[in-house]
Amino acid sequence: MKKMKPESLMMTHGYVPEWSENAVKCPIYQTSTFVFPTAESGKRFFALAYGKTEATKDEKPGLIYSRLNNPNLQILEERLSLWEDAQDAAVFESGMSAISTVFLTFLKPGDRLLISNPVYGGTHHFVHSYLQSIGVHVEHFTAETDLKSLTEELCADPRGAEIKLIYAETPANPTNAVIDMKLLGEMKIALIKAHKTEVKMAIDNTYLGPIWQKPMDWGADMSCYSATKFLSGHSDLIAGAITGNKESLLAIKSLRTFLGNMASPNTCWLLTRSLETLSIRMNRQADNALTVVKFLQNHNLVTRVYFPGLDSQGDKQVSIHRRQSTSAGAMISFDVKGGEESAFHVLNKLSLIKLAVSLGSNESLAQHPFHMTHADMPDEEKKSLKLTDSMIRLSIGIEDPEDLIQDLRQAMEGL
Ligand SMILES: *Cc1c(COP(=O)(O)O)cnc(C)c1O
Repeated sequence: MKKMKPESLMMTHGYVPEWSENAVKCPIYQTSTFVFPTAESGKRFFALAYGKTEATKDEKPGLIYSRLNNPNLQILEERLSLWEDAQDAAVFESGMSAISTVFLTFLKPGDRLLISNPVYGGTHHFVHSYLQSIGVHVEHFTAETDLKSLTEELCADPRGAEIKLIYAETPANPTNAVIDMKLLGEMKIALIKAHKTEVKMAIDNTYLGPIWQKPMDWGADMSCYSATKFLSGHSDLIAGAITGNKESLLAIKSLRTFLGNMASPNTCWLLTRSLETLSIRMNRQADNALTVVKFLQNHNLVTRVYFPGLDSQGDKQVSIHRRQSTSAGAMISFDVKGGEESAFHVLNKLSLIKLAVSLGSNESLAQHPFHMTHADMPDEEKKSLKLTDSMIRLSIGIEDPEDLIQDLRQAMEGL
């Protein structure tokens, strides 16, 4: 039989009703520990969990203790893997705990991290306040960097051997600038060849994944997610996830067991429910976003719209976007005439669209990057990204698109 699509498998994959009185939906296994059928099986479960022995074909790891494994965590991870055809997935209690676990797994003092700029504020803070303090060297690149020349430089430079992780966020928040994942994948291979070292590549795929952008197709080892955003899609939980190849996920899950930052059964259950509607939610959000973009482009008080694939992003940006993503997503930034005063006027007058940070949920949200999500970024850096106090960032939900436009139109009246 032909392999089924994730959309078809999200409701049932990995769960057997006989496990739970034939309940059609997987219940919440709100338990800290699991009873071993016999002492011998307990011994076997531990041997497998600690990698002392290989599982036989069809052998499932036995349940031991909910920090190591829990049915809600395992079923969620199996389903999440399907979207990107990933070999494995790991779910965490926040996006930051997923991302920081990637850094802690693959970087040691003396190693070098190559990271795109800008990245999510929490990621930026962890890299600069923590990783640098323990002796990890940090090097930046941007959407403007010539990645081919950088690859040549790093292959010729002996210090290129210190690079252990290439990390990028694309599209970038809030400008929607995209980073070429194909060139990053080629950089990884070139570095491994030139310096005979291990190099991993991870992409923060929160904005377009897992539906519209698949970093593993371009040579990434891992996709990182704030599952708080599209994956949850209901603004009612905080969670994170990593999907990727077996080898990387084994290292990440080993560290997660001892950091103890896996997601709880309740969080996993909510996310499992959210995944059932992921595709219809995200596609509706993207359709709505296109309608809103058209409205904004034609509004005389809007001076620029930042959205992947628009001509105003530049030809090179458009071609990278077309190659690596199948949709522009549901995140729109735009500048209004009149600076902060005008932007605040609009934000205060929006009524259906709520004034809040976060993104990817089924309700539309608006915020002011300059003074809110990016308040911490030095003004010089904001300037170089063209991030001014005229900018509003929208996360578009699943509402009726005409109602969203009506709300934006009335909010811009009286400017
Ligand atoms: C929100 C976000 C994070 C952090 O995730 P939390 O779930 O808030 O910990 C990381 N990266 C991106 C792109 C985000 O939007």
